[in-house]
Amino acid sequence: MRIIRHPAEMTAWAKEQAKSGQRIGLVPTMGFFHEGHLSLMRRAGQLADQVAVSLFVNPTQFGPQEDLAAYPRNFERDCAMAEAAGVAVLFAPEAVGMYPAGFNTTVMVGTELTGQLCGASRPGHFAGVATVVCKLFSIVRPDLAIFGEKDWQQLAVIRRMTADLNLGVEIVAHPIVREADGLAMSSRNTYLAPQQREAALSLSRAIVLARKMAAEGERSAERLTAALRDFIHSFPETTVDYISFVHQDTLQEVAEIDEETVLALAVKIGGKVRLIDNGKVLV
Ligand code: AMP
Repeated sequence: MRIIRHPAEMTAWAKEQAKSGQRIGLVPTMGFFHEGHLSLMRRAGQLADQVAVSLFVNPTQFGPQEDLAAYPRNFERDCAMAEAAGVAVLFAPEAVGMYPAGFNTTVMVGTELTGQLCGASRPGHFAGVATVVCKLFSIVRPDLAIFGEKDWQQLAVIRRMTADLNLGVEIVAHPIVREADGLAMSSRNTYLAPQQREAALSLSRAIVLARKMAAEGERSAERLTAALRDFIHSFPETTVDYISFVHQDTLQEVAEIDEETVLALAVKIGGKVRLIDNGKVLV
């Protein structure tokens, strides 16, 4: 597996692949790999000839009070895991390589998709995400790029940006990979103290509860939200950031749930660790 640090070198590699007719699949990540990341990489290997993974803890998508400095990192371990997953190139740029002096462009997807959910709790987050993904597409020139449904809103934002800017990259969505007990895998799960790990199950269990209530006939987003809020707060150290029933594509809140509704959740555990999860309710 080749490790590339410089955008220009990355693009040179991409041009070589294109010349020889090789299709490139890109998996953008912030590293500290887990099985969720690896399943995206393996999927990319099935869909493309060459897999490129970007590893970049993008400073512009973190707010001033967020966990940029503390974000877990283990470059050696990530390299070994990516190589074992069949990755051809790991693109791990320095921040200064991505944002050199004078950098002054931001890609903003409109507030219809970015004003709610994580966009409301994390102002500026999706501008950071859209800008870095747009840059990654320009640098790596992939035929396709894979994103996890774990970040449902991110996926919708990237799809919109890719279509609106004619970026010509096929966006592939990959299902959420979970621990055996249901917790959605996340690099941020490492922040959880042992007693908080149990409380983190409140998210996936809330989705299960919503499905049960829906199967019994409940359709009111308001009543479901109230029940889920009580349920999540019955776990120690939990604070609901949002519980929202939205249309799967438009991300607009719905009053009555149907087959196109996604339940999106963000919960803080112990006041610090913010976890997200989502799922269809009527399945
Ligand atoms: P991250 O490194 O957290 O920015 O994630 C990189 C990519 O992996 C994003 O497309 C995420 O949606 C995806 N991802 C993260 N966790 C999971 C998971 N548990 N299941 C599926 N995809 C995931």
